[in-house]
Amino acid sequence: MGIVVTKFGGSSLADAGQFRKVRDILLADENRKYVVPSAPGRRDADDAKVTDLLYACHTLAAEGRAHEFEETFSAIRERYLGIVEELGLSPECIATQLEQARFAILSGMGPDYAASRGEFLNGLLLSAYLGWEFIDAAEVIFFDAAGRFDAERTQEVLSARLGRTEYAVIPGFYGSLPNGEIKTFTRGGSDVTGAIVARAAGAELYENWTDVSGFLMADPRIVKRPKRIHVITYRELRELSYMGATVLHEDAIFPVRMAGIPINIRNTNEPENAGTMIVRADESHVRGAITGIAGKKGFTAIAIEKNMMNSELGFGRRVLTALEECGVSFEHMPSGIDTMTVLVSDSAIAGRIDEVVERIRRTCKPDHIEVISGLSLVATVGRGMVRYPGTAARIFGALADSGINIRMIDQGSSEINIIVGVESADFERAVNAIYNAFLK
Ligand code: ASP
Repeated sequence: MGIVVTKFGGSSLADAGQFRKVRDILLADENRKYVVPSAPGRRDADDAKVTDLLYACHTLAAEGRAHEFEETFSAIRERYLGIVEELGLSPECIATQLEQARFAILSGMGPDYAASRGEFLNGLLLSAYLGWEFIDAAEVIFFDAAGRFDAERTQEVLSARLGRTEYAVIPGFYGSLPNGEIKTFTRGGSDVTGAIVARAAGAELYENWTDVSGFLMADPRIVKRPKRIHVITYRELRELSYMGATVLHEDAIFPVRMAGIPINIRNTNEPENAGTMIVRADESHVRGAITGIAGKKGFTAIAIEKNMMNSELGFGRRVLTALEECGVSFEHMPSGIDTMTVLVSDSAIAGRIDEVVERIRRTCKPDHIEVISGLSLVATVGRGMVRYPGTAARIFGALADSGINIRMIDQGSSEINIIVGVESADFERAVNAIYNAFLK
């Protein structure tokens, strides 16, 4: 086995007990050479994330609210020193850096600097606990002057640095600008750092450790105890995340996907569970099986009918131009011979529906135009459906058996996804009906 890069999320490093689990996981496999930690997350539902406290400190400092600043910073200090003490480490491993961070935030350093200290301090702590080298992300992860991630420079510097380091901790979430200032990725960005490190290390695997055992085939709030997805391709994941199922920061996919490195989503609290493997391609799937079901509420369909629409040059373009000119982006556009439906999200069309309809009437002169609101989309995703017949029949059969009326059907040309539109009142039942048709 080659190098494994691991990333641990905030809940995996929320207290000393979690740090112990992380160490056990890292030491259980000598190939786990580079670890990317998040900042300490919530220990329970009422707790605060250190990152949020740091953002608050920045705001309080900027507003000159010294007393509240000290109170909030004390909570952060206690959080780290509590972990240090419980793990039997010397406070010296982070004490100076903690006070430096306090001073810098008070002296007017920006919000990115403030927030990045969560990962920075946690990285120092973890490196002391493991006895591994600490590599400050500011020295190896770069952004350009416009604030865009500089993949080339990072790859060059980081891979050279890792080449000289056997075991190391690299804090997640931030890097530096050409002028040396700290810049963070968007929230949840430690996932991105992990992927960048995996690529630079030429890793065989990127393990993303969190508090769930991988992706589930459906939303557990809708389907009772849905099964886990064992293997999913990057493309399938893209389809499912578009429909609202996410565990991973979207930008985290690109560096590893490009390098062909699989991602394994694992659970720090259940390390014996193999989690979900995200891969480029997979031929081992079972005939007729699906990978997952996801869905979203809140769509409106604009259904347009016009005799001979089919042969009218530029008709589709005129419909889409009408939407564009009203500033409305569309989600799907299934069409028939003389019919065409444009699906938009309620939030995109809010307050503009009359204007859109009026424009379509004027520029396209349809025979009939109807607005259907209160729709939901349900996507059934599976790399197996492109090769085997019967998936659509099973979905439609299941919906028919449950008495659910299908208002729209869309199968993208990639054929790994069949999307149906149903009335929102039928949404939960539709997801369950499809799940049961494939899994029971
Ligand atoms: N700590 C950062 C956040 O809360 C980054 C991360 O956890 O990935 O967004």
